[in-house]
Amino acid sequence: MLSAITRFVFIVCLAFIAAYITLANWGVNFAITAGMTVLAIPLAYSYVNLARLRKYAIANAVENMPLPSGFWEEVFFRLQRLVRNLKLEIQSIEKQHNRFIEAFQASPNGIVMLDDQDQIEWCNAIAERFFGLEFKRDVLQRINFLIRRPEFIQYLNKRIFEGPLLLERMGPEGNLSLMVQAFPYGDKRHLLLVQDVTDLQKADAMRRDFVANVSHEMRTPITVLMGFLETIQSLDLDKAQQTQYIELMMSQAQRMKSLVEDLLTLANLEANTLPAPMQAVQVPTIMALLKNDAQALSQGKHAFNFEVLTSASILGEERELLSAFSNLVSNAVRYTPDVGMVSVKWSLNADGQGEFSVTDTGPGIASEHLSRLTERFYRVDRSRSRDTGGTGLGLAIVKHIANRHHAQLQIESSPGKGSTFRLRFPKERISL
Ligand code: ADP
Repeated sequence: MLSAITRFVFIVCLAFIAAYITLANWGVNFAITAGMTVLAIPLAYSYVNLARLRKYAIANAVENMPLPSGFWEEVFFRLQRLVRNLKLEIQSIEKQHNRFIEAFQASPNGIVMLDDQDQIEWCNAIAERFFGLEFKRDVLQRINFLIRRPEFIQYLNKRIFEGPLLLERMGPEGNLSLMVQAFPYGDKRHLLLVQDVTDLQKADAMRRDFVANVSHEMRTPITVLMGFLETIQSLDLDKAQQTQYIELMMSQAQRMKSLVEDLLTLANLEANTLPAPMQAVQVPTIMALLKNDAQALSQGKHAFNFEVLTSASILGEERELLSAFSNLVSNAVRYTPDVGMVSVKWSLNADGQGEFSVTDTGPGIASEHLSRLTERFYRVDRSRSRDTGGTGLGLAIVKHIANRHHAQLQIESSPGKGSTFRLRFPKERISL
């Protein structure tokens, strides 16, 4: 291919030759016209090609432009290659950018990118939900105009981000606890990372409550025991008084023992995350044990009705099932006043599910308590529970055992009319 200068020299020479030949034959004017005409041909050709280039550039389709012949072919060919390479480069940058965005969107944490004026440059969907933001609407808005909590504004303004900031009562329903941390990056920009710590906070509060409850439950019998011991030590008691004091001390020690045993049972159940094994447990055998224990606990003060309406067994862990059933029966006996009636039934329902139910004619429970009964140490009547030797952990244990057997605990109760506690076992846990 000839170089541009060679072409130029060639065309100028051509123009001179044409002018010279014309000058010799027709005179000066004709010679100038002939030279100009020869020069005008490549100029017209260039103009036409530039006009085509302009047209394709406006349509943003330079790379689709048909290539002309001659000198402009190379120019257009190189231009098209440049445009194509640039477009490919942009596409790959765009892909990479989209992958980053997708990764940030997939994050379980909220992410907000702030510019040097604390204006929102970008935020992910989680951050939108946490703070009630809408990226398209709020882009380039100052974040402290949108999140107006004084502690947050103070945190941002301080510009020293050593630790995170806890924001409570956040989110669309105002029930989220959010941990916010700002990280400086780039040119005075900041990245806000927002973590939902609601469950962690709840678990922490539950742990604190639990420790406080256990300490409280243990302290009471220990205080009573110490009181009796001091009395025995300092007073000269006769035999009968001593026996009476020792019996009272025994009952306090028994209370502590029950509490520790229930705590250990609960800890073991919580530690075991696997479902209960599938061993066939004969319910009639368990019913016989329950009946004996219930009668011993009642000391003849209640009437009982034990019914086994099916020979079906439960596929589960016998020790746990006995513990759950006996907790329900002992609650019924302990909370039902003398002369009351306790009915215990094992049956299959129409769907083939196994149902173990304990019905009493006791005081019943108001509906507002029902959903909380299985919480550890939750009691409707604190003093009544203690008087009857309750640890406040019985139904929490029942609930755990039910979960491990994929069973449901249902409680029906109305004040003054008595209660029914029912454990419903799925068909897969029943062996006929
Ligand atoms: P507790 O050791 O106090 O009995 P539970 O976890 O077994 O603890 O029961 C929680 C609370 O549920 C009890 O304190 C009591 O108020 C209530 N409750 C349980 N069973 C009955 C029942 N059969 N009748 C009335 N109230 C009951």
